[in-house]
Amino acid sequence: MTAPIPPNETTRLEALHRYDILDTEPEEQLNDIALLASRICDTPISAISLIDADRQWFKATVGLAASETPREIAFCAHAILHTEVMVVEDARADQRFASNPFVTGAPEVRFYAGAPLITPSGHALGTLCVIDAKPRTLSQEQQEALRALSRQVVAQFELRRSLAEARRTVKQLERAEERLRLLGSAVEQAYEGILITDADLDQPGPRIVFANTAYTKMTGYSAEECLGKTPRILQGPATDRSVLRRLRENLSAGESFAGEVINYRKDGREFFLEWQVAPIRDAAGKITHFVAAQRDITPRKQAEAELMESREALRVLNAELESRVERRTAALHAATLDAEEANRAKSEFLSRTSHELRTPMNAILGFAQVLELDETLGAEPQESVQQILGAGHHLLKLIEEVLDISSAESGALPLAVEPVSLPALLVEVLNLARPAATSLQISLNEAPPLSCACGEVLADRQRLKQVLLNLLSNAIKYNRPGGSVRLACAAAGTTGLPMWRCAVEDTGPGIPREKLGRLFTPFDRLGAERSRLEVTGTGLGLALTKRMVELMGGRIGVESVPGEGSTFWVELPMAQEHRASTRVE
Ligand code: ADP
Repeated sequence: MTAPIPPNETTRLEALHRYDILDTEPEEQLNDIALLASRICDTPISAISLIDADRQWFKATVGLAASETPREIAFCAHAILHTEVMVVEDARADQRFASNPFVTGAPEVRFYAGAPLITPSGHALGTLCVIDAKPRTLSQEQQEALRALSRQVVAQFELRRSLAEARRTVKQLERAEERLRLLGSAVEQAYEGILITDADLDQPGPRIVFANTAYTKMTGYSAEECLGKTPRILQGPATDRSVLRRLRENLSAGESFAGEVINYRKDGREFFLEWQVAPIRDAAGKITHFVAAQRDITPRKQAEAELMESREALRVLNAELESRVERRTAALHAATLDAEEANRAKSEFLSRTSHELRTPMNAILGFAQVLELDETLGAEPQESVQQILGAGHHLLKLIEEVLDISSAESGALPLAVEPVSLPALLVEVLNLARPAATSLQISLNEAPPLSCACGEVLADRQRLKQVLLNLLSNAIKYNRPGGSVRLACAAAGTTGLPMWRCAVEDTGPGIPREKLGRLFTPFDRLGAERSRLEVTGTGLGLALTKRMVELMGGRIGVESVPGEGSTFWVELPMAQEHRASTRVE
């Protein structure tokens, strides 16, 4: 008959498994107890049996080869229901076991006595049992001994478990120790200074219980010197008091703190710290310590200060530069005004002087002309009169040109711009120039547009005449005997304003390329190397010509091939109503 399941089966099985003994190797102490049981009870078989969910497993056996049997045929499954020793004197006569296969077959059990293995928590895990193949009884002493031995078995189980727990604790401790060693070495090796203090916030404040190497290097204090001191003694007076107040407030409230403070090293040198302080709590959440990590930020602070200084220096320099530029600009402005004033005064002076010179010069020339007509004069005085006339005319021309150029420069040259018919003007200036061209050929291109008189420019007639005469007289003056001068006119200005271009071509010596740029500068007569063709001149003609052309809204230019001749050209805007694309040559 199968044994009933104990009422506390679930917790009983949990208790059994907590001992962690099932399927373990045999153990000497337990084997000995089994042996003692068999000897004391004088039975050939004894066992320490543990009742698992569906089997009985033997931890120790004497005279029994099996290691486990099914629970439903186990005598011990019945014995664990009792608190005292269960004795079956003759199994065949006991209806619970009469048909049990261990009774009807090998090992033909007839006698069984089992003392339950009851733990301190009251769970019967199994039995210490003795078995015989013949019916018999167990004396009171034997039963007591069996009971005592069963308690020893449980004590062994307890010992085993405590040992296993102790081993586990040792392992945990070893692991904790290893972690501590690693942490300790990490803290020691840390680049940041690490400080641990107790959590006493009362005066004079928390005391240092640990300082790592970086901290001692940073401060110059040895670990021994730091221990027991409060970190406050290191804080310099330069630290902002509000930072310290915040530190205290945060720590009192159990919060962490981060900020910058100034400290002094042992040698008195000041240094800047970036500080992070956090509370350390025990398992119950109570603050037991504070840990502070601090980094020396002195180099960064110095760099920042230098940067500020450089910025300030740069700002001052910039301000200085700006004020200098302002002063220079003002001076320049004043100088420009002065120069303009000086230029205006010069032009006024020149214009006045020229006026003053012109009147007596006209008188001198008038008197010389009267003398020239006097036939009573001898040859010698007549020659002197001619020289007076020549020099006088030259001087008068110079005076007039100086007057014109100064008027042009001061913007006071009077101009009457109007449509001027080119054909008539060209014929007129050519006729005026012709007498001077005694040994030259002088020509005008008689193209159809000129003869039909449709070419008109916008210009001051007198000034345009003066311009063309200047160019023609230069072309005649700076020419070789037997050379030629040609006056030509054509439409120009294909882009922008339509223009008439009048060009004076000569077969003179030409002008070196490098001197072309100076041609229109006042008083430049291109040097003494041209002495072979030395002729009278003022060096003002082209400068004045250029200004007049520009005042009339035109352009002037020159092309020249040394040894072959030069072409001076003038372009002036076509008169509106007569603009034409017709070419005139
Ligand atoms: P001037 O003729 O009174 O010296 P210009 O201003 O008219 O002054 O001319 C400046 C200089 O340019 C002249 O002295 C001369 O050397 C040179 N020059 C002007 N026209 C010609 C020309 N057609 N051929 C060669 N050289 C010239």
